[in-house]
Amino acid sequence: MEKWLEELQSLLPEGRVLTSLADRHSYSFDASFGEHLPDAVVQVKEKLEVADVLKLANRYKVPVHPRGSGTCLSGGPLPVHGGIVLDMSQFPAVIDLSPRDLTVKVTPSVLTGNINKAAEKHGLMYAPDPSSAHVATIGGNLAENSGGPRGLKYGVTKDHVLGLEVVTPEGEMIKTGGQTIKNVTGIDLTKLIVGSEGTLGVIVGATLKLMPKPPAVQTIMVAFDEVRKAGEAISQTLTSGILPAKMEFMDQACIVAVENFQPVGLPVDAAAVIIIELDGHPETLRVERGLIEEIMEEMGAKEIIIPKSDEEAAKLWHARKQVSPAIAKIKPTKVSEDATVPRSKIPDFMDRLELIKEKYGLEVVAFGHAGDGNLHPNILCDKRNVEEMKLVEKAVEDMFQAALDLGGTLSGEHGIGTMKAPFMELELGEIGLDMMKRIKDSWDPNGILNPGKVFPEKGQKLVLHHD
Ligand SMILES: Cc1cc2nc3c(=O)[nH]c(=O)nc-3n(C[C@H](O)[C@H](O)[C@H](O)COP(=O)(O)OP(=O)(O)OC[C@H]3O[C@@H](n4cnc5c(N)ncnc54)[C@H](O)[C@@H]3O)c2cc1C
Repeated sequence: MEKWLEELQSLLPEGRVLTSLADRHSYSFDASFGEHLPDAVVQVKEKLEVADVLKLANRYKVPVHPRGSGTCLSGGPLPVHGGIVLDMSQFPAVIDLSPRDLTVKVTPSVLTGNINKAAEKHGLMYAPDPSSAHVATIGGNLAENSGGPRGLKYGVTKDHVLGLEVVTPEGEMIKTGGQTIKNVTGIDLTKLIVGSEGTLGVIVGATLKLMPKPPAVQTIMVAFDEVRKAGEAISQTLTSGILPAKMEFMDQACIVAVENFQPVGLPVDAAAVIIIELDGHPETLRVERGLIEEIMEEMGAKEIIIPKSDEEAAKLWHARKQVSPAIAKIKPTKVSEDATVPRSKIPDFMDRLELIKEKYGLEVVAFGHAGDGNLHPNILCDKRNVEEMKLVEKAVEDMFQAALDLGGTLSGEHGIGTMKAPFMELELGEIGLDMMKRIKDSWDPNGILNPGKVFPEKGQKLVLHHD
């Protein structure tokens, strides 16, 4: 046994350093692509244990890959260089609310959905609502700067973080930010860590912002017989003076997939639907609902559906959440992207997706947070079909290029990880990427924390096929 591993085992209580092949396999994948075996999995339960593991790893220059629930869609927690997977999901889950301050302190293993459930008991809400909130950890959300449908009105994770407790790659414990809404003391390290995908530090605690839960919500579903019309209706709504809390898009393939998976009565003959949620005072909602109906009629909506009860509305939102599992039933493999464009370019991006679909003869479906320009084109394929996967690689590249041509970005919320690292220079330019890398190098001089993520390695290409 290697010396570092022997020492690691003596650092932690028995049973928390896993080295059996079965255990290592269980931590070799996430919800994206690729399998990489770690040498060991360490289940940490305290901040000091994290610090001890990082000190040791830094001394021996062993890679450490932090991991929450492993739901990442870009390869973030994959141990691409072997070494240690640092399982943060076994930390005691603590949610410590301060309703009078409208804040909450959490440990990294807390499932994001549970923060909102706890806040709701006090008439409050934690706004970020990724679709995976019931399974993903807040540590993972912070590392990925995750977002959800409510991002349209309330922003994403980074907009709701006041302070962090972080263990640096050299094993030192630091605090960033604090507990106050205003805080301009020095460079904002909180914002630097949020979204750094586990490459700059391990998050061991966070203070998050809560807000009053809106007194009422109104759901509206609108069906269109042309995808482009749906895209234009989204732009029209957002320039009308109304800011919905959510504005989600599903194309026909997604609608049909959900109906085949868990039927709720979505209009399967529509080319696309938009599901909207307005929130606020009931009187305001009544007025806004009327305006939205007018806009949608003007934009050529095929059907406007207003749920008759909260249960009916909840079913529609549940249907939206089921898109991902439902489309996964269509073909064995799905490659999920989240390139994002300025909202006014959504119709153009949809046209470009159609062209890519035709060019490569692939099955491409699209859904997502169209209100903020963050679409999720998914390519449905079969990873055992090498020729098909080579086409998928090209199609993904074309999607990124299309988003960038339209003034967009590679990723709106799923992060860069391994999957998008080869395309970073395309968006940031050589110098921009180098400045980012210099930050990484100064935080992590030995390059031990989550290597192989975000920053492309020499000659790295997107590879989804195995010859
Ligand atoms: C069905 C499905 C739906 C999804 N929907 C959404 C969505 O709506 N919006 C969205 O944004 N994402 C979505 N995702 C992606 C994913 O759920 C998020 O990226 C989530 O934040 C990952 O959390 P996790 O706990 O699973 O972290 P992991 O996948 O384990 O890790 C994610 C990244 O965070 C790092 N990390 C984890 N914990 C820590 C820590 N404590 N300190 C430092 N780094 C850490 C890891 O190294 C890795 O880089 C979805 C995924 C699936 C499978």
